[in-house]
Amino acid sequence: MTTIANRLQDILATIQSTKSTNHCKQHVSLLAVSKAQSSQAIREAFFAGQKIFGENYLQEAIEKQSQLTDLNIEWHFIGPIQSNKTQLIAQNFSWVHSVDRLKIAQRLNDARPENLAPLQVCIQVNSSNEVSKSGVAPKELESLAIAIALMPRLKLRGLMSIPEPSNDNNKQRAQFKQVRECYDALIAKGFALDTLSIGMSDDYTIAIEQGATIVRIGSALFGARKYAASK
Ligand SMILES: *Cc1c(COP(=O)(O)O)cnc(C)c1O
Repeated sequence: MTTIANRLQDILATIQSTKSTNHCKQHVSLLAVSKAQSSQAIREAFFAGQKIFGENYLQEAIEKQSQLTDLNIEWHFIGPIQSNKTQLIAQNFSWVHSVDRLKIAQRLNDARPENLAPLQVCIQVNSSNEVSKSGVAPKELESLAIAIALMPRLKLRGLMSIPEPSNDNNKQRAQFKQVRECYDALIAKGFALDTLSIGMSDDYTIAIEQGATIVRIGSALFGARKYAASK
């Protein structure tokens, strides 16, 4: 039987071999995406060595967090954010990857408790230019980055993106490359960024090749989710 611990070791080994094959110099962290997984599964991954976990749905996340207070987990919020959820997100997570508009950034900043470190944030970029998808358009990225960089309770770390799924590796590569170019352009303008959150179970090796510093992996680590939770 393949356990979470086995799969974790396989993924970490694949990350290392992908880095060396492609001569990647960046540090790559694994974010375990635990949406639709039980707190028991999270506990199992934690004791196998995984310390950072990502959740998409606030209520589900808070329920699991309350069952795991004995573990020193770093929680990342990676799902779509509605205004009425910003306060609990600001109180219960260390990182948010899915900031895609000014109003949400401002509300997270205002709600971040003073006794906690600034909330570490990534701006979600829409790399496929689809109207329906969340994420800021590349041309609106810089003004949002400037606004966030001025917010004292947020720390802008980089960019996140969820490209359209595709079986065509070259299409995936091109989408990741576009996000990477946005990231490099902001750094060239003076933003001190260190995080490119791209790549999921099916495409993380391509993302690493394109410069990912965080890969967000769910099903390859935990197995198939019990409900369709991609939205
Ligand atoms: C679900 C999800 C993931 C992980 O997806 P897998 O294909 O299971 O690895 C990563 N990022 C986000 C934003 C997600 O919603």
